[in-house]
Amino acid sequence: MIKDDYQSLPGNVQVKRAMEIAATGGHSIAIIDCDNLDAEYHAAFNLIGSNHKALKVVRCCPCGNFTHPKRRCTCTPNEVGRWQKQKGYRAALEADIVVTAQPVKHTDVMLTHLNMPGAIVHKRVIFTRLRQHKSITPNAAELFQTAAKHLNFNAKEQMQVLSITNTIMNMDHDERVRNYHIAEAINLRRGNVYKIVQDNIKLGGAQ
Ligand SMILES: [Zn+2]
Repeated sequence: MIKDDYQSLPGNVQVKRAMEIAATGGHSIAIIDCDNLDAEYHAAFNLIGSNHKALKVVRCCPCGNFTHPKRRCTCTPNEVGRWQKQKGYRAALEADIVVTAQPVKHTDVMLTHLNMPGAIVHKRVIFTRLRQHKSITPNAAELFQTAAKHLNFNAKEQMQVLSITNTIMNMDHDERVRNYHIAEAINLRRGNVYKIVQDNIKLGGAQ
């Protein structure tokens, strides 16, 4: 079986939903984690296409049950107070999205659209992100998709290109994403190694 960091993530659907929203909109996200899954959350977040720096995972209270729906927190009020005053914890609460990881419920399994393999969720994230540029010209959208495939951009690079594209469009005082915005952004990601003109992508130096 191929290991899929996203699909095999034991966190609940609320966490996956929150991660997808964060990845799509470029929002920062904090997960309060009771199960020591820091590395797993980062891997999953990366896989669906977001900058892992936008994700903070913070530990739950010392006993780990403070946010648990069924288990009882056995920490003293002092312990809970100390936990909630921790710098890392307070900083995490500044994130755009804050979500508590809870155990998987059997009903979660039915929500298949949230239990897709990471690659499919990643495609959905990219597609929605493209559509957020409501004014993207059809050619520009096609160029982006072709280029991403052709140049083998990973998830993070695709996000970077879209973000740079937005900046270039704004610098142009333009309200539409055009081919040349996409092309310039891609070239800036790849050190001008590729010559990208209109709909054509060629390997070549600057000309
Ligand atoms: Zn506790």
